[in-house]
Amino acid sequence: MSTSSYLCSSTLPIVSPRSSVLGSGDKTMLDESVKCPVTDCILPVDIVLRSSDQVLIGAHQANLAQFSEGFPTPSDVKATDDPVDLTEDSLTLRLLVHFTHKQRYPNLSITGTPVGTIFSLAEAAEKYLVYSAMVACNMRIDDSYVVELDPASALVYGVKFNYPGVANRAALWALTRRSVDDVVKAFGAGYESYSLSWVRYRETFLSLMGTMTRGSNSYFKYKGTFSSCTDEHWRLFYISVLADLPLTPGRFLSTLIDKGTPRDFLTTIIQNHRSYIEGGRVCGQCRKRMNNWSAEFSAELTAIKPFDTFLPLC
Ligand SMILES: [Zn+2]
Ligand SMILES: [Zn+2]
Repeated sequence: MSTSSYLCSSTLPIVSPRSSVLGSGDKTMLDESVKCPVTDCILPVDIVLRSSDQVLIGAHQANLAQFSEGFPTPSDVKATDDPVDLTEDSLTLRLLVHFTHKQRYPNLSITGTPVGTIFSLAEAAEKYLVYSAMVACNMRIDDSYVVELDPASALVYGVKFNYPGVANRAALWALTRRSVDDVVKAFGAGYESYSLSWVRYRETFLSLMGTMTRGSNSYFKYKGTFSSCTDEHWRLFYISVLADLPLTPGRFLSTLIDKGTPRDFLTTIIQNHRSYIEGGRVCGQCRKRMNNWSAEFSAELTAIKPFDTFLPLC
């Protein structure tokens, strides 16, 4: 059984869970001093896991087989006194082993477990298919606080393990909280096409800056069309609006997206400058031009599709 994913398995370096845990391991006798990390666990330790930081962690083959689909079963492991080398650090593995017991699971609340460890545990749980840990991590990561705190990691998690709700919300947060380099680095080597998906998503928001600039083009385009319109009111309005706009990409995105949600900030801008375009003496054509400009912007903003629609099709 395997989880579905956005990832194209034919092009990405996805690690096979079972092969990854069957490391060569130094030939050592099973060290009886190695304990199970679960307090008061009375089950005999019959397999030793060795973390990436070289910590030996005791576990139980039958439990690993029962509670996961990626750890070795007793029949997989011929020499049970060999530590099994894993790529996860000791904090992550200790937590993961808890989820292979019939005991109350660790509290993964943000105060108890660092956000970075939650993502590491989530990755390990998905890799070894420890379902109880998978759902516990997903509930924590799906929390708005975690997505806001580390949107790049949440984005990668959502994409790699097919949680579109998390991915879409993290993609929005990342627009204002992370640079392109940050997101590319978070995805890592081999996942460039998924980084590119986020860059394309980001570009659709940045293109709205062009919609604002086209406001001046419409001035020239329509100049002279209406004999009674001198463009004066539109021009005064538009010049004052432009002076108020954030015209660098970073500032523009921060203004457009507030707390992970797009907002029609043009409404606020228009409100601040409407004295130029409203009143009995204001040209109706200029006012209509302003309304069209505003409507075009709002329509473009609304039409932006969720991030997961930018992901490559396998
Ligand atoms: Zn135990
Ligand atoms: Zn006019």
